Amino acid sequence: MKYCSHCGAEVAEDAAFCPKCGSSLYDTYGENNVAVSDKDWLATILLCWFLGVFGIHRFYVGKIGSAIAMIFTLGGLGIWVLVDFIIILCGDFKDKDGKVIKRS
Ligand SMILES: [Zn+2]
Repeated sequence: MKYCSHCGAEVAEDAAFCPKCGSSLYDTYGENNVAVSDKDWLATILLCWFLGVFGIHRFYVGKIGSAIAMIFTLGGLGIWVLVDFIIILCGDFKDKDGKVIKRS
């Protein structure tokens, strides 16, 4: 069972709209019932591509600790950045709250 993020009403697992207030349930919950970040997917992937070795995309999503680690390792000599890039591309990258950054 999940809950409408707007009015708090119980809604069916596969419902796309809240039956009570009529708002879309996909603003906060994606298809797999995971919370979706409000961070911009395009900004994240561009920052990763151009400034990934400086961990800028991780700063952007609020992952400060790993962002700093990324600077010191130069993005794991590029490998870590490449892995991040693929994860972002697949829409599985998460922000500091564990919310998925989806392509909008
Ligand atoms: Zn509602």
